[in-house]
Amino acid sequence: MTPAQAQLVEQIRGSFGPKTAVTDPEAIAPWLTDWRGRFHGSAPAMLAPATTAEVAAIVRLAGDAGVPLVPQGGNTSMVGGATPPADGSALLLTTRRMNRIRALSPESNLAVAEAGVILADLRAAAEREGRRFPLDLGARGSATIGGLVSTNAGGTQVLRFGTMRSLVAGVEAVLPDGSVHEGLAPLKKDNRGYDLNQLLIGAEGTLGIVTAATLRLVPGMVSRAVAWAGLESPARALALLRSIEARTDAVESFEIVPDATLALVLGHVPGLRAPLETRHPWHVLIEAVATDPGAEPPTALLERLLGTAIEEELAGDAVIAASEAQAESFWRIRHSISEAERAAGPALQHDISVPVDDMPRFMVEGGAAAEARFPGTHAVAYGHLGDGNVHFHVRAPAGADPARWYVEQGPAITRFVHDMVVAAGGSISAEHGIGQMKRAELERLGPVARLSALRAIKGALDPRGILNPGKLVALAPGGRTP
Ligand SMILES: Cc1cc2nc3c(=O)[nH]c(=O)nc-3n(C[C@H](O)[C@H](O)[C@H](O)COP(=O)(O)OP(=O)(O)OC[C@H]3O[C@@H](n4cnc5c(N)ncnc54)[C@H](O)[C@@H]3O)c2cc1C
Repeated sequence: MTPAQAQLVEQIRGSFGPKTAVTDPEAIAPWLTDWRGRFHGSAPAMLAPATTAEVAAIVRLAGDAGVPLVPQGGNTSMVGGATPPADGSALLLTTRRMNRIRALSPESNLAVAEAGVILADLRAAAEREGRRFPLDLGARGSATIGGLVSTNAGGTQVLRFGTMRSLVAGVEAVLPDGSVHEGLAPLKKDNRGYDLNQLLIGAEGTLGIVTAATLRLVPGMVSRAVAWAGLESPARALALLRSIEARTDAVESFEIVPDATLALVLGHVPGLRAPLETRHPWHVLIEAVATDPGAEPPTALLERLLGTAIEEELAGDAVIAASEAQAESFWRIRHSISEAERAAGPALQHDISVPVDDMPRFMVEGGAAAEARFPGTHAVAYGHLGDGNVHFHVRAPAGADPARWYVEQGPAITRFVHDMVVAAGGSISAEHGIGQMKRAELERLGPVARLSALRAIKGALDPRGILNPGKLVALAPGGRTP
């Protein structure tokens, strides 16, 4: 620990008690590596404030001492966003003790949750009041509201409800100078210039530490139907989605899964079974929800729509879950993909988006092009077809030494995939953010106007580079952008 860090820790303990600064290496160790195990950091202390006032005081003291802070929630970042630098120059700041739901109003359909509230807990609290917080993802048991806001997380219900950006009605955050942005009021109209709330959403902890957020709730679910359909191609899958969307707005999720990925999950997770008895090259998982007791029951709705789709040869076969347990098991297949992929061996993950209408072509042609350019690799794309966002993974050839393959082949493969994405007018980060994993690629691919605006904003709000150094955009020592 440097003298400046040691003094800072003493000051924080003196003001807020021993719980607020953990220095036991064993207690800190689990939080120094990212979820995928790709990034390993070092931090001599982990700060754990319990209130917004404590966060503000810590940020002010850290700024004065020139000690950077890395905000961390559930540490489920897919891009090493919450992993501190390896040189031990920064301290971790965990929001885990800020885990109160300050308010939840079914009348106004709003909840105010502190940064450390875990997504699953907020969803359960909303359900107890007959409402839903309609954002869901595989990391729901660990990901926090602060992390979800700061990565503008997406998930499986973006199709109907949008990303965090459309679910956040207000933000409270501590800015890099220690001042508190009090933006929790859920104003429908507010034209006082730049929208600080929106700037903080997706800022990956580089512009402020989110301490609480006002979140939009939607009506509770009366019933749902979850279907699994087998089909020939991503093009048919998109045609199926369009055909369903033309007839109803009850569909909340539409996820595409290639057959090889389904097989991988079934081999990895004991007790799961293929939803269909027939084999198909591609699959889609569809969820339809009724929130009005007078509406057509979603099971009948999906039966009718999928029946038409089979007649029109958009789908080869389909099944609707006969029970809630079966519906959960369909979803378990989808939510186990990241885990099964991780266990399957070395792979390069690309969380990319292109315009929705172009996604079927991109999935097929992009996969074939990557496999042809890097013989022995296997490209798979799965995920949020209706959002134009898939997770495009390139797996190492069988028997490849993981460490060597990542170093020797990784950068070239990722550049190849990202170049295809840019050529298609897409984004190299659809929902996971930039973190440290994609920073070099963001620098390489720009565009210049976007990059220079991002750097200027970072330089203006955090000239000393106190918050989350080495993530998203770089600040050179002394506050200059490189
Ligand atoms: C199995 C699995 C499935 C996933 N599926 C999806 C998916 O479908 N869609 C999706 O979008 N993401 C997905 N993710 C990624 C991840 O869950 C999200 O990025 C999530 O928003 C991170 O929340 P967290 O609390 O874990 O944040 P962390 O990982 O701790 O941090 C993420 C980033 O936010 C910053 N941060 C954290 N808290 C704060 C705060 N209070 N103030 C300021 N900055 C902060 C960190 O510095 C870091 O840059 C998945 C992850 C896993 C492991």
